[in-house]
Order: sequence, then structure tokens, then C-alpha cells
Amino acid sequence: MIHPDRITSTTCPYCGVGCNLELHVKDDFIYSVTSPFDAVVNQGNLCVKGRFGYDFIYSPQRVTTPMLRKSLQKPGMRTAAFDLNEWRQVSWDVALDYTADRLVEIYQRDGSDALAVYCCAKATNEDNYLLQKMFRALFRSNNVDHCTRLCHAGSVVALLKSLGSSAMSNTASEVIHSDCFIVTGSNTTENHPIIALQMKAAVRKHGARLIVIDPRRIELCDYATLWLPLKPGTNVAVFAAMAHVIIKEGLVNRDFVAARTFGYEEFARSIEKFTPEYAEMVSGVDRNLIVEAARMYARAERGAIYWGMGISQLSQGTASALGLIHLALLTGHIGRKGTGLNPLRGQNNVQGASDAGAMPFHYPGYMEVDNEANARAWEAAWNVEPGGLSRKRGLTTTEILSHAHPGGVRALYIMGENPMMTEPNLNLTRQHMQELEFLVAQDIFINESGAFADVFLPATSWAEKEGTFTNTDRRVQRVRPAIAPRGESRPDWQIICDLARRIERRLGRPNSAGWDYTSPEQVFREMANTATMLKGVTYARIEKVGLQYPVPDENHPGTPFLFSENFPSGRGRFFTVEYIPVAEPPDDEYPLILTTGRLLEHWHGGSMTRNSLLDELYPEAQLELHEVDAAHFGIQDGSPVRVYSRRGSVVVRARISPKANPGVVFLPMHFAEAAANLLTIDVLDKEAKIPEFKACAVGVQIAQEEELHNPAVRTERGRY
Ligand code: SF4
Repeated sequence: MIHPDRITSTTCPYCGVGCNLELHVKDDFIYSVTSPFDAVVNQGNLCVKGRFGYDFIYSPQRVTTPMLRKSLQKPGMRTAAFDLNEWRQVSWDVALDYTADRLVEIYQRDGSDALAVYCCAKATNEDNYLLQKMFRALFRSNNVDHCTRLCHAGSVVALLKSLGSSAMSNTASEVIHSDCFIVTGSNTTENHPIIALQMKAAVRKHGARLIVIDPRRIELCDYATLWLPLKPGTNVAVFAAMAHVIIKEGLVNRDFVAARTFGYEEFARSIEKFTPEYAEMVSGVDRNLIVEAARMYARAERGAIYWGMGISQLSQGTASALGLIHLALLTGHIGRKGTGLNPLRGQNNVQGASDAGAMPFHYPGYMEVDNEANARAWEAAWNVEPGGLSRKRGLTTTEILSHAHPGGVRALYIMGENPMMTEPNLNLTRQHMQELEFLVAQDIFINESGAFADVFLPATSWAEKEGTFTNTDRRVQRVRPAIAPRGESRPDWQIICDLARRIERRLGRPNSAGWDYTSPEQVFREMANTATMLKGVTYARIEKVGLQYPVPDENHPGTPFLFSENFPSGRGRFFTVEYIPVAEPPDDEYPLILTTGRLLEHWHGGSMTRNSLLDELYPEAQLELHEVDAAHFGIQDGSPVRVYSRRGSVVVRARISPKANPGVVFLPMHFAEAAANLLTIDVLDKEAKIPEFKACAVGVQIAQEEELHNPAVRTERGRY
């Protein structure tokens, strides 16, 4: 029995559930992770990632020294360097001075538009606040974004358009108070495992009825009263048909619609054509299931909707999320406990990074950059001269790279993200990365994107730093250091402040915006003073239990569910509905629809889990397909197959799966040696700019075992 030197309370670094962790430390080494049974978010439960996935901190692949590339990288000829012999170790002073010199040189030569930054949904609120502040206050650029663009941008835009707030409306654990809830586009068991436990308890212990609307027969179907197996990308038609049934059968909550919404009449006219028969033709879902689902949700006393990226990661992602919002507005299933519109946020701090202003259209607190009063408020907060901040909306993640050419973006700063795994159409993304003039990677590993960088700045992991994460239900929680930083690594907030001071000196305005913070707590206070939804959150108040914003003052108890009286936009707005099919339907050459997503054992681009023991649990990518498709293409379970789209191909092992539907195959996104995003299409939702990760046309053919075991031929172009 080991007796710990200390036990540090902190928050899980993986998914948006935000489970509370206790890190057990002996001799400055974390040897075990547990969770207290009274943890308000997870009641002592942890999934395999939170419980065992922390050992990446000690991975020999981790880089803990500042590094510069040995050879000069030229735009158009930039190469990837995973081999540390292609880098030289340097001091922090050399790395930061070089970074400041190059960024300032490019800024002074080409202006604000030539710089861009990817903030990080894994980093703390304070880290993200400081990085967006550096680019806004010093370089006057709003080219600031992060992976929210790639996960829930469609949901964010739809919720802001209709309700004026993009956050999850209710607390996830309130699901036990729902008598009916819809889960759509979310394999919750694998992506938000602890919320899935609460959903199962809602069904088994509290008698709730569950409606799953998903192309895959996910595990939650075992708990569902109804499963609507729709074709990927047909959400708009199915949700509109449910609304059609609700209206036709007189199940509309007339009082709610009259008192709390507008645009109903026009909306109702627009969904006349969305009969269950039409939706069945488009989506493949039996019309009777659509009718039953509509009745079940509408007749519930407390109906809730939970959704994931199967809704938002589409070229119609905004329209899909609006379809769900319409259902809640029609029935009045919002503004009460156990109801609501609940987009399950992916990464541990994607909510917080968005709140902290890591977005091109918003300052911290969702204050639009092109609003004069907002800009002036932040100019005052950051000691920037009046009119100094840019009022121009910046580029999104997907646009930043497509603007990487002479006359466009020349320098990119990436904190903790990995676009060479997470962007669609990676062969094109690689070309964009190669065009950059200067690239900085601030991370714990040299990942597939960092390998293209000129400078590598070694950051600490979450277990070596202080700050806050905000989970999917708006709860701001503490992150605490359990061990000292490994090697020469530094917390992100300290790296940014050190670099910002050097940039300020080169720009001739030392100490203009104030970069001499002594703690993350001081950073948080600065953010919360102007982003008023956080004003009442203090480190002291969240010492034991996090607070759910809005928290307008220090006496406010936090807000478990939103919209009880009204919406930030006043009334909830209906929009007219139009169904537009996915951009790339299957055809003779590419007869299957590929949908991509995550696995329980892994996380996003794999930087953490693939450098952890978790990799042994699920060591290689597998293509999940239905037995009918397997028989059609002569594929055996476990045999190697080449999956190809118009953009690339990968070789993986086939798995005949009961989760699969005929005509639809699934590939996880975590494996660099068989990167799913080599196949995906880079068409975007027009409003949210989110790519269509959930549907593109592919073909499959039998491959040879040697191809599977030879990394050089597993992807079309080999490893990056
Ligand atoms: Fe961490 Fe999410 Fe698992 Fe909880 S459910 S332990 S937050 S990965």
C-alpha cells in the first residue's frame, strides 16, 4: 500500500464532462487517480481516460526543452520533422527572442492580417484569455480561433441566432429529472461516458423514455424506447418532420409559443412539405418512428434534447441545430429543470476557450468584435488607445490555413492544437501548412502539426499548472498543479506573458497592456471584470465546487439552467426550413457514406492518448462496416481494406460491426497512420464555417496485409 505525499484535487483534461479528479502523488510522481464520491459532476465515477490516461505526462516522446529547427524553412517548401536530430535545443531566451523577432517582423512588414493564432480547448481559461489578448492587443488581429470551429460551431451559431446564448441550457445530470429525452448525433457512451451513465440511470432508475436519432446503432439504443436510424446529413428533414407532426396533431405548446417566441407562422408554413413520408424518403427512417418520436417528445412533461457533433459537423450544421431548437420552442421544453437544449461540448475546455474569447468574432464573454462599445470596453481593460483594437471579424480555423499564401496569413501560432489531424482534407491542409512563412508550436509533444514548426515551445501538462476549465454545463472548475513542471517546460500562461513582454518592447510600447501577472487567479479576475457573466466567480468561491455561469456577482449561487424567464435575445426565434442534402452523396465510384468520430479509449488528434497506455487498448484504426456491405465487397472481419475518397486513401483493418448501418461506414479520427481526415471533405457550413466531417462519399477495396503493417503505405502519402 502506497501512502501518498499529497493528493491534489483537479479537473479531468479530456472531455467536456469535467469530472473531478484526485491525483495521488509520491516523490513528485502521480501513481494513481481517483475521484471523490461527493464530486458534484461525476459522483466518484471516472471513465478509462480519466482513470488511467494520465501517463502521457511521463512519455519519453514528450519534449521539455525549447527547440528551433536546424534548417531554415522556406514558404512552399516547409517540411515535417519528427526526428529530434532535425531540431536544436536552445534556451528559453533564444526561443522567445527568435519568436518575438519573427512575429514582429512579419507584423511590421505585412500588417495584422498576416498573423493568426490557434488557441486551445485543452488549455485553461487563463491561457486562452492571454493568448487571444496577445494577438488582439499587440498585433491588432482577430485571426483567433480554436477547435470549437471543428466541433460545435453549427450549434453555437444556431443557438446565438435563435436564443442569443450558445451554451448548454441545462446541467447534464438533470437528465434524471426528464421524463423523455432525445440523444442525437452523439455516441454519448464513448464520448461523454459519465453523462451516458446518468442517461442510463434516467431510463433504468427514473423511468424516462429515450429517443436515439443516429445513423449508428450506438450502445444507448439498448436503453432507448425508439431508435431512428437516419442517413448521415438528413437531420434537417427528420427534425422538420417531427415539427410537422407536432403542429398537425395539435401538440404545440401554444402559450409558450405566444409568450416566448416569434416567427412561428412563417416557420409553420415552411415545414408543410416535411411530411413523415417525405422525411422517410430522404432519411430512410420509417415514417411511423418519426410520428411516434414527435408525439413522445411533445407529450412529455419535461423533455430534453442532447446532441453531439453528428448534428453540427455538417455543411448544414447550423440548420440541423436549428431543427432541434425549433422542437424545444414548439413544445416549451426549455427554461425548466430536466428540459433544455444541450449540445455536449467535446474537449475539456472548449466551452471555456470560447468564453475566454478564443474566437474570431468575439472578445471574451461573447462580446462581438465589430461592436464599438465592446471594442472600447476591452481597449480600456487592456490599456489600448481608443480605436486601437481591430473591429474587423477575423478568420476561422479553416479559413486561416486556406489563407496561408503570399498576401495572406504568413505566421501562425498554434497552442496545443493539431490541425494536421483535425482539419478536413489533410492533403490540402498539408499544402497550406507548407506555405506558411513562420510557424510556432507550443505544446507538450511535437505532433503532426508541430513537426512543421520553426520553433517549439515546451508547455506543461494540465497536471503541472494552475487555472480553470469550464465544462459542458458552464461550470468553472479549478485546475491545480500536482507535480513540478517536467524538464524546462513552463505553464502556457507564463510562456505567453514572457513572449508578450518581448513583443511589446520590440513594438515600442512596453507595459502597455500589462503582462506582469503573478498568478492565473489575477488573469481570471481581469477577464471576469469585463466578461460579466463570470464576474461573481472567484478562485475562493470555486475552491471545492465549481460555479455555473452566469454568476453576475459574488453573492450569486450560479445558474444550473438558463432561460427560465426569457432568452438573451428576448424571444426565441423560429426560422424557415430548407433541406439541402450533403455535399457529396454516394455514387457508383464512391458507393458508401463515411462518417467519422471518436472512440472511448482515445482523444481527438491522439497527442495524449496515443502517448499513453490507453493506446494498447485500441492500438490501430479500424473501419466499422455492416455485414451486408462486407459481403458485397468480399471483405472478411479483420481483413485489411483500402478506404478511398476523392481526396485521399488509407489502409485499415475492417471490422464488421452491429453498430453499422448498410451503406454507412465509420472511421475514428485519432490515428495519424490512417488519418480519417485524409478522406473527409472540406466543404463548410456557410454560416458557422464548420466542415462536413460526418458525411462524404468513399469506396472500399481489399488491401494486402503488408500494406497494413507498413506505415509508409498506410496513407496515400505516408506519415507526415
Ligand atoms: Fe474525463 Fe470525460 Fe472520462 Fe470524465 S467522462 S473521466 S471528464 S474523459
